[in-house]
Amino acid sequence: MAKKMAKSLAKKAPRKSSGGKPSVRKVLAKAKAKAGKAAGVKPAAKRKQAVAKAAQNLSPGASPPMTTAEIAEAFRRLAAANPEPTTELTYTNPFTLLVAVVLSAQATDAGVNKATPALFALADTPARMAALGEDRIRDLIKTIGLFRTKAKNVALLAHKLVAEHGGEVPKTREALEALPGVGRKTANVVLNTAFGEHTIAVDTHIFRVGNRTGMATGKTPYDVEVKLEQVIPKQYLRHAHHWLILHGRYTCIARKPLCERCVIADLCHWPGKTVAA
Ligand code: SF4
Repeated sequence: MAKKMAKSLAKKAPRKSSGGKPSVRKVLAKAKAKAGKAAGVKPAAKRKQAVAKAAQNLSPGASPPMTTAEIAEAFRRLAAANPEPTTELTYTNPFTLLVAVVLSAQATDAGVNKATPALFALADTPARMAALGEDRIRDLIKTIGLFRTKAKNVALLAHKLVAEHGGEVPKTREALEALPGVGRKTANVVLNTAFGEHTIAVDTHIFRVGNRTGMATGKTPYDVEVKLEQVIPKQYLRHAHHWLILHGRYTCIARKPLCERCVIADLCHWPGKTVAA
């Protein structure tokens, strides 16, 4: 059924992207992602029954947990639709990534990307950033929310990297979290994106997707992070972070999720989804 849909979409897809419509490549990738299924995923009717039964023991609106097979299938599809996901922040090395992530707290990646080219042109290493100084940094990032605190933290962390880490970004969580302005989430992004570690930085998007779908429910980002690390198949852990962020940012959006365009809609256990299982 899904394979047929992929073929029919391939015929219907426009040759070029125009007027904000998805490109042919994206349409085909999504259709391909929906085609096929991982071993162990029960037929839709049986899944629907199981979800309804599990929901009886939960508070209204809560999502029953996805099964191991459903989670594996969800990642198979997300991977098929976007095989090499990455951060949308602009960076050139681990240090500029670290700074960009610090600047992105309570700000959009697009907003950060507008300010960082000028900043990184002047200072793309800890030594240069430390030499640039807090006042210049503040001036260069003043379009980003909380810029005063962030400028202070960036200047301090640059000094600390020079003084304690030989001007390099450390590769351990402990050392990263000891830097000014760096918490668990920022450390996880740097460990994952710069150093290839299998970490998951639970931001607002991943928190929402984990709870809504039933993939990993929890009251805090840390709960969701730990559960995701337990349930995501190993082969998907390297990129899981980006697949979930991008899914939350562009499809499973906060106010009105685009369930009709969602490649994992039939696997999602959220009672509020707008497409049937
Ligand atoms: S079906 Fe809707 S609620 Fe569920 S993951 Fe997809 S977009 Fe989110």
